[in-house]
This record gives sequence, C-alpha cells and structure tokens, in this order.
Amino acid sequence: MSRSAELRCRCGEVRGRVEDASPRTANRAVCYCDDCQAYAHRLGRADLLDAHGGTDIVQVAPGSLAFDRGAERIVGLRLTPKGLYRWYASCCMTPVGNTARPSVPFVGIVARAFEDADGAFGTPRGAVFGKFAVGGAPPGSTGVDVRLFAHVIRLVVGWRVRGKAWPHPFFDRATGAPSRPVTVLSREEREALRPLCGPRPAAQRAAVAVDARPAR
Ligand SMILES: [Zn+2]
Ligand SMILES: [Zn+2]
Repeated sequence: MSRSAELRCRCGEVRGRVEDASPRTANRAVCYCDDCQAYAHRLGRADLLDAHGGTDIVQVAPGSLAFDRGAERIVGLRLTPKGLYRWYASCCMTPVGNTARPSVPFVGIVARAFEDADGAFGTPRGAVFGKFAVGGAPPGSTGVDVRLFAHVIRLVVGWRVRGKAWPHPFFDRATGAPSRPVTVLSREEREALRPLCGPRPAAQRAAVAVDARPAR
C-alpha cells in the first residue's frame, strides 16, 4: 500500500500531500548552498536553517505532490533570472517546493513542512555544498557524494520516463509556463542577502529580526 505524506505551511492555510512517499521514491538531503540560505533570509524564515545554515530538503516527483488547500496562496521567487523557481506559501512565508523547469522534473520541499518527514522519507542521505556552511563544513558535506548523486539521477530520469513529471503543482501543462505568479529578485535585493549567508556571514541574524518587525 502506498503511503502519503502530509505537508502544511506554518499557519495551516496551505496543505498538501505527497503520494507514494518512501525513502526509495524520494531523496532527502541537507543543502548548505548560499542560495538556499539567501532564500530563507529573504522570507524571514532563518528559523528553517540548521546551525550551519543548512536546509533539510526532500525531493519528490512533481506528479506525486498536490495541494488540496490554499494553492492560490502559493507564489514563486527566483533569486536570479535563470535561477531555481522557489515556491512558497505567501500567508506565512513557508517554502513549499523548489523546482527547475518541468523538463527537469523534481520538487525539493523543506522537510520541516512535513508532518513526519522521518517516518515518510527516512533521515537525510547526505549533505551538499558544505563549502558554504556557516562556521565550517559538517563532515561529508563537501565534494561529490557519488551515491547521493546517482540516487537523484535515477529518480529524476525515472520520473520523466514514467510520466511522473505531470501534473506539476506549479506549472501549466499546456503552456509549460508557471501557473503561479513569480517574482525575480533584482541584483540589489540579491546582494543585500549575501552578507547574511555563509561560509562567514558578515551580518548577524539579529539585523534580520529588526527588519522583520512590523512597521508601526
Ligand atoms: Zn501559511
Ligand atoms: Zn541549496
């Protein structure tokens, strides 16, 4: 029997599920890259980063992910004009899926959005981009993890071949265009985030907390 994994944004307005959830049908890994760090800071969600700035992500087939509530609240962000599409729930700034274009079918979802990521997908298989980790690279997070890489390739190729790329939760099948509004950061907006990111952040998180305070 295939198992489904429930996910929701922090406030609960956006809810969805991944069908056929298992360690074998997904890839879970921690990404320390500075783009994932910048994204979390942009959303005011540095709380989703681990002590080294890592984001724990579960990659699944687009066709296995569906939102049954609040899909209209989902919007996209690109850090650069050609960067990943990073989709989030605008109600509470919770990331709900990173994607490329649908021709490279995968959706990377923050593990913390799931009710029980460990139970559904197992613990992370590995870590990548450790050179950007804050305060030094955790063991095994630098260099190429061949087993992890092979697992991802096998999954993505399999999803493409077996028709799991569609329906895509964030793209329109007929046009191939994003089905939700997408914003691209300007260079200035992007550069403003870099001092917050690894490997040696020049600014402290306290500065973000001040910015995030509601205006009086
Ligand atoms: Zn929400
Ligand atoms: Zn990343």
